[in-house]
Amino acid sequence: MLPSSGRGLLHVCPGCGRRLELFDTRDGDQAYWCHACGKGHRAGSPPLEALRPEQAS
Ligand SMILES: [Zn+2]
Repeated sequence: MLPSSGRGLLHVCPGCGRRLELFDTRDGDQAYWCHACGKGHRAGSPPLEALRPEQAS
């Protein structure tokens, strides 16, 4: 069910629902991270529960 493009999707924390912060990892990848929970995921392999439609404000 993953859309082919990432546009229109927000990455949110499955734990607390905050917007995840995108940052560059040391190995040149990118990751979304929740500083409150200390958890996150790589941008290339987001878990389904971390994706939310952008229209849901
Ligand atoms: Zn969190």
